[in-house]
Amino acid sequence: MATKRRRCGTMAAHMRLLEVYAPFRGRQQRLERQTALRRGLAAAVRKPALVKVPVVVNVVFRNDEQDVSLTQIRSQLAVLNRDFARRNKDRTKVPEPWKGLAADSRIRFKLVKVARTQTRNPPFSTYDEVKYTGAGGISPFEPETHLNLWVCALADGVLGYAQFPGGPAETDGVVIDYRAFGTRGTAEAPFDLGRTATHEVGHYFNLRHIWADTEDCSGSDFVADTPNAAGPNYGTPAFPAVSCGNGPHGDMFVNYMDYVDDAAMFLFTAQQVLRMRTALEEARPGLG
Ligand SMILES: [Zn+2]
Repeated sequence: MATKRRRCGTMAAHMRLLEVYAPFRGRQQRLERQTALRRGLAAAVRKPALVKVPVVVNVVFRNDEQDVSLTQIRSQLAVLNRDFARRNKDRTKVPEPWKGLAADSRIRFKLVKVARTQTRNPPFSTYDEVKYTGAGGISPFEPETHLNLWVCALADGVLGYAQFPGGPAETDGVVIDYRAFGTRGTAEAPFDLGRTATHEVGHYFNLRHIWADTEDCSGSDFVADTPNAAGPNYGTPAFPAVSCGNGPHGDMFVNYMDYVDDAAMFLFTAQQVLRMRTALEEARPGLG
């Protein structure tokens, strides 16, 4: 069997949205300025308020297998709540130099609604058909005040994708392949610990990939406490994995925003949390 590698569709969806949705670029730039401002303020180190984000799960299935159970849905919510609270048991595996950087986002998730529909569509692409009832999917439920998660079959080995803040409300939320959702039922190793949703909800709160989606060392994820990295890491790497002159500790491949397997990612950093909290409070205020 071929080794399965993580693949995320967020940047493809992002690039397309920049072309087709005029207000998006300006809103993203504004949020970037707000994030930089907060980074410079003492307020940044204050303990953020506890926020409970209402979550709607939209299950779009072709057959009974893809119609994931409520138990499986709850298993995913439990992972999100542990990972965003830094209460994941495997946090002890963060290499020593980064242990002090792992942070609790003070963002929690509460399941409030599950919608289900059967579709005749083939596996969905990152073109958002799954988010429209008229196109064989389910339109989002009150996306200004709810995080919408879609669970469906995704094409081309994509495990999930998210919409960054500032995009159109009618497509806002996160899509996860049914084989990478939760820790039960249809979840398949090595993506059966619920971390695809942790990664994608990170994007939903404006986090970029840790290697900045560039082929060299020129990009930035706009986060100061994550080392510059040349490209994605896959599987379960050994520490340290040095690139871009970032030795001795190397790439922070244990970060939720890398491409490693579910069993190898364990943290968001303090500066990532600041970025997520800015996105939550400035660009998604209806959630809290
Ligand atoms: Zn991603």
